[in-house]
This record gives sequence, C-alpha cells and structure tokens, in this order.
Amino acid sequence: MFMFNVKTNEKVHWIGLTRSEMREHVAKLGQPHFRADQIYNWIYSGKIKSFQSMANIPKSFRAILDQTSGIHPLSLVKITGQNSSLTRKFLFRLSTDEMIESVLMQEGNRTTACLSSQVGCAMDCDFCATAEMGFQKNLSVGEIVDQFLFLQQKSEKIITNVVFMGMGEPFLNYTRVIKAADLLNEPDGIDLGARRITISTVGIIPRIKQFTKEGHRYKLAISLNGATQNQRLQTMPAAKKYPIHMLIDAAKNYYETAKRFPTFEYVLMNNLNDRTTDAENLIKLIGNLPCKVNLIPYNEIGGNYKRPSHGRLTHFINALKNAPFTVTVRWSNGTEIDAGCGQLAVNAGGGVQS
Ligand code: SAH
Repeated sequence: MFMFNVKTNEKVHWIGLTRSEMREHVAKLGQPHFRADQIYNWIYSGKIKSFQSMANIPKSFRAILDQTSGIHPLSLVKITGQNSSLTRKFLFRLSTDEMIESVLMQEGNRTTACLSSQVGCAMDCDFCATAEMGFQKNLSVGEIVDQFLFLQQKSEKIITNVVFMGMGEPFLNYTRVIKAADLLNEPDGIDLGARRITISTVGIIPRIKQFTKEGHRYKLAISLNGATQNQRLQTMPAAKKYPIHMLIDAAKNYYETAKRFPTFEYVLMNNLNDRTTDAENLIKLIGNLPCKVNLIPYNEIGGNYKRPSHGRLTHFINALKNAPFTVTVRWSNGTEIDAGCGQLAVNAGGGVQS
C-alpha cells in the first residue's frame, strides 16, 4: 500500500522528507503538487501535532494521510531537567524501539540543539559514554530532523544553533546527516543558517575530503583530543586507521578549498594530554593552519580519566597564549544530569545510565 515501506511494512513518516519527496508521494495519491507544499509548510513549521490540524487540507485527504502515514518518526519518552534550567536532556524512542538522546542548551543569546546521528557508536573512544553502547544503527533523516523539531517545540526560545555532537559518528552516517542538515538549512523550511550548523567528526578522513569536495557550508569540527599520533591512539582507536598527520592534511585541504576555519576539539584529561609539553606539541602539530581550537574540560563518566583541576586547565590555556590559532574553552553545561559532552548513553532497557 502507498506510504508503507514494502519491505518492512513500516509506516512512512513525513518529517525527514524533502519537498520533492513529498511531491512524489502526493502525486501517487492523485493529489496536485501544491498539496505537498502545504504539507511541507505544516511539517517544518514544527507546530502541528496531527494531520487534523492541517486546516487547508481537505478533510477526506487528511483522513487518508492519517490512515496511511505518520508525522513523527520518534516518540518523546522523557525530558530531564526543569523548564527553567539551562540544559535539558531529551530521551526518544525510535519506531524500532531503540533509544537516543539529544540535549537543548541555553547560553546567553544562543540556544543550541545537540543532536544524535546514530544509536550508539562504533568508534569506541575510551573517554566517551556512548562508546559503551556499541554501535546499534544509523538514524534516518527523519529521526535526526525530528529531534530538532521536538526540541524546538519544547524550547521557549528559537533554536539558533545545531551541533552534531550527540550520540554517534556523523561522518559514518554521512549521506543522511548531510540531508538532515540540508533540511534544517532549507530557506523555505526550518531556515537555520548553514554557519549555525556544526558537524563534529572523530576524523573520518575520506568523508572530510568528500565534505570538502562537495562544498558544504556547514561548520566542520574535528575531535583531536591528543597532540601526537601516540597520544591519540591511547584513547581513540579510530586514530589507527586515520593517522594524525593525514588528518591535519585533510583539515588543511578543507581550509584551502573552502576558505573556512576548521575547529579542532580537544578534550582535556588530567595528566594525560593537559601538560605544557602537550600544549607545545599541539602548537607544533597545527602549525600555521588557520583554525579554532576548542578545549573541552573532560566530563567524568566513571572511567579511568579525570577532569584536570582549575589550576592545570589555566596552565594549559596559558601555554597556548601565543599560539597562532584562536582558543576557546567549552565549559559543558548539564553535567549534573549527564548531558555534557560524551555523557550520552542509554541502556537497552531505555533507562538513562547514571
Ligand atoms: N563522534 C563525533 C561526535 C560526538 S562526540 C566526534 O567524535 O566528534 C562530541 C564531542 O564530545 C567530541 O569532541 C568528543 O571528543 C567530546 N567528548 C566525548 N566524551 C567526552 C567527555 N567524557 N567529556 C568531554 N568531552 C567529551
């Protein structure tokens, strides 16, 4: 039957479809193009809860939509954190029952949605809670965009920024993540500026090259987390396949082609990569590549690593004072509800790990 995926008999959901995909669907139902445009506007306004609220669609067609399709590919299970708090964590269930999390953060004039791209993650970084879930599956375009629409619905303020820094490795779900970013960016739809969307990767070099070649305007962030190949290897198994110097070369190529600064994220772990020599190595590694370095004091997840003391952090930041690149520090909010960077994880049973 139309609107059902023939293979899985799974209901098709409208969130995640592009305008032309919507047109294809309504054409199959014998409806004109403009119907798809009306549905598109309703869906990406993010304001409707059911087909019944689509006031300019004839009742009979609304009933057909209702019987044969759904709006949301996700269901919202729980929000952790008060309405008034600066950081709230959202737990969602997929139609196939897996769970994912997203985070809504308020900081000054900025309201940021931190979205997941996969259920779990295959990268196995030693310092990240998501790694403990292992890799379960890639999220669909709809499942990615739906996180944003739910967060926007529950946010008092308009979401100004999106970061693909939740669960998963976005560049191992490349096509869907780019398609989701395109939908978020669509001027006739959600209309979030391209430079307000950041995609963060562990450093999948072939996809960085593809991203560069395709000329996407989204911000690129690369999780460095170490200043030498050996240091990266200590905590990030992906470093073996994607050596640090090739990664820096790919970032250089991105800068030269796109004329945009890549961001390097550097999670600071006590006595592991936070010494003065590490800061010096970082300066040597990056050289004069125009970029931004974002330092993230480690959020503890009950493993081997510790957050450096304030004194050590200050020392490290000072050691970068004369670096040719801009240095910023991200003091993760929401660590009290396990919503900080690298703290996202859900049990198979759906509970939030403490
Ligand atoms: N897989 C992608 C995106 C998810 S991780 C990536 O690797 O970039 C998002 C950011 O959180 C990364 O920069 C990662 O290094 C950082 N991170 C992971 N675990 C963390 C932790 N426990 N404390 C602080 N930052 C962490």
